[in-house]
Amino acid sequence: MGGTEQKYVSEAFESNWVAPLGPNVDNFEKDLCQFTGAKHAAALSAGTAALHLALILSDVKQDDLVICQSFTFSASANPITYQGAIPVFVDSEEETWNMCPVQLEKAIKACLSGEIEIKKKGKVGAKKPKAIIPVHLYGMPAKMDEIMAIAKKYDIPVIEDAAESLGSTYKDKQTGTFGKFSILSFNGNKIITTSGGGALLSNDETLIQKARFLATQARDNAPHYQHSHIGYNYRMSNIVAGIGRGQMEVLPERVKQRRAVYQWYNAYFQNVNNTKGYNIVLQPEAEGSLSNRWLTAVLIDPERNKGLTKERLRLALEQENIESRPLWKPMHLQPVFDYAPFFGNGTSKKLFDQGLCLPSSSNMTEENMQRIKVVLDRVLL
Ligand SMILES: *Cc1c(COP(=O)(O)O)cnc(C)c1O
Repeated sequence: MGGTEQKYVSEAFESNWVAPLGPNVDNFEKDLCQFTGAKHAAALSAGTAALHLALILSDVKQDDLVICQSFTFSASANPITYQGAIPVFVDSEEETWNMCPVQLEKAIKACLSGEIEIKKKGKVGAKKPKAIIPVHLYGMPAKMDEIMAIAKKYDIPVIEDAAESLGSTYKDKQTGTFGKFSILSFNGNKIITTSGGGALLSNDETLIQKARFLATQARDNAPHYQHSHIGYNYRMSNIVAGIGRGQMEVLPERVKQRRAVYQWYNAYFQNVNNTKGYNIVLQPEAEGSLSNRWLTAVLIDPERNKGLTKERLRLALEQENIESRPLWKPMHLQPVFDYAPFFGNGTSKKLFDQGLCLPSSSNMTEENMQRIKVVLDRVLL
């Protein structure tokens, strides 16, 4: 926490705005728009809820096809199945680790020509995908120019999953402002948090109004409880939004802190690469992109690192009670999505096999870093 969160939460208590609406919600939405440059925002109970609403508002229904980055957290793909739709997974490219534009176009062409086959169900017939979900993983912006050009060419809306990239920019524009919709997350592990929460961003005011309507049980305009649509209880509470307002004040500082952690690791690994013959690779920052460096991740190819594996490093850290984690396991390799079509060339699997997320918290102390360095030195020197 940054320090001012409690002030906003207290205001909610004092004014008795303890509800899924109120001044903190309105102001948090304004803060999000002001920071990102998005025209409209709806504060919601989770990033997953935001993605679900974006799919509903993109008219995603039973047996529709939705293209999704395979290399991501499961929450990017799960809401597709809430609608009874079928995820079509697309691989990553090496430069940003995010959605590969070449594989994306292959996937779209296959959908349009009726080549998509579902395990045990067979061919689904020619269909235009209803949406494309690229993700800015670990804060790194995806290749948005290329992805948006393909989306435009085939006239398919983009839902940008910016859950991990709040504060990152692509060609001087904040992530979360490229798609027709974008989603943010304020879950406990993200760069800023409201304990749990999310937001849907769009430049289209009507769509955001519809999102707010669906998120509050879809009540028609009548004195009694009248419903013409299925609704959801997806709105953010005024208490939680108070935490969000305080967190927005420290977001630029958090980005600085995360980037400083990355710089520390980068200097360390550059040094062992240069002096000890290793080839440990950090997630590259493409020209024109600035990552919030939510997590610092490394790739360790045993063939280029004297047989060292990411697992050996992970276990060495674990022995000292320091947690590190493998990168996201791609969705096309998850048992729950084993039926889903996939377009790729093995990049995301390689990233999963070789990648490790290192401790990257905004509040890492010099002492924390030294403890990590001791283990890294033990393994590498
Ligand atoms: C965290 C996350 C989500 C989901 O956000 P919640 O607020 O936890 O529901 C979606 N996509 C990605 C890539 C995430 O990291």
